[in-house]
Amino acid sequence: MKRDYYAVLGVAKAATPDDLKSAYRKLALKYHPDKNPGNKDAEEKFKEINEAYGVLSDPKKKQQYDIFGHDGINADPFATGQNKSGYTYTRYSSSSDFSNMGDIFGDIFGDIFGSGSKTTYSQKRGEDLRYDLNLTYLEAMKGTEIPIYVSKKENCSICFGNGSKEKNAKKQCPKCKGYGQVKYSQGFFSFSQECSQCRGRGIVISNPCYECKGTGTTRKNKTIKVKIPAGVDEGTSLKISGAGNVGDNNSTAGDLYVVIHLEKSKNFKRDGNNLYTEIYISFTQAAMGIEYNVAVIEGYVKVKIPAGTQTGTTLRIREEGFPILGRKNKGDLYVKINVLVPKHMNDEQKRALFEYAKSMGEISKDSKYQSDNFFKKFFK
Ligand SMILES: [Zn+2]
Ligand SMILES: [Zn+2]
Repeated sequence: MKRDYYAVLGVAKAATPDDLKSAYRKLALKYHPDKNPGNKDAEEKFKEINEAYGVLSDPKKKQQYDIFGHDGINADPFATGQNKSGYTYTRYSSSSDFSNMGDIFGDIFGDIFGSGSKTTYSQKRGEDLRYDLNLTYLEAMKGTEIPIYVSKKENCSICFGNGSKEKNAKKQCPKCKGYGQVKYSQGFFSFSQECSQCRGRGIVISNPCYECKGTGTTRKNKTIKVKIPAGVDEGTSLKISGAGNVGDNNSTAGDLYVVIHLEKSKNFKRDGNNLYTEIYISFTQAAMGIEYNVAVIEGYVKVKIPAGTQTGTTLRIREEGFPILGRKNKGDLYVKINVLVPKHMNDEQKRALFEYAKSMGEISKDSKYQSDNFFKKFFK
């Protein structure tokens, strides 16, 4: 005679899915075969609560059960089916085989025992890798493709990542039963640790490959072409999916992160997407204005310097800076203008300046240019 499923889980008929789940967890933890080795009663109990939860956690089956009782469930072709997370389960009442139970168990207990189910453990992902790449301003501005050399874990070329000499030599780890984790209880606390026999992979290999010692991976130097988009900056991190270490035994590879560093430039400074530079013009150019070819990272940009520009003036030229990563527009170019005063002049130049000073009213109109020594005293 079957017991009422609600009674099995010790909940009221009005229990919410959360109530059901927590009741199931408590009981399943208590009666789990790992905790009760060789205890037939516990094993039966464990099957019973799994069956009850299998029905009550499925809205459709729960409805049938609520209306028709056990008959409603038996009428349902429930021998195999899918639970919500897509795992296949079998009906346990007629089976003493626990191997299929891992799925539903893993699903429910994933959040108690840390991270996920059996599937996750046996497919331990490869590690992410980081590569620091120095770029010039020009490379960062234009974008480029650069081959980098990375020492990383790759699939073993002897066993093709399989880890064993023969095919299908993988077995579920007997110590952790494929979970990759071993559970311990101490008083009220239970906790889990990575299984020492399979190192968290959930599988053991009976005849390991001599090259990779069963891990399926070996370290190799690889050349990876990295596409650098225009506009990268100091600290920009480019993620290359799947280019990290491959995981043990053909599991998912990690990612490679290429972190950009910009080499310093003597003539340019970058701030965000804006580019800063300085130029030096003569005082007559500043006074009369000039079209000036300002050297930028690649080539020149023609800049109109208006007449009467003072030294220290900064001009902003739109869209002549760095490309903005992932966009069409660019930052701006800032040009600081330094006006140079002539250091050495010949007699003719001095005479010209003398006349200039006269016309500016700095020197009296009837004074006459004589020589260097007398030049100073003409000024007020
Ligand atoms: Zn190998
Ligand atoms: Zn193990």
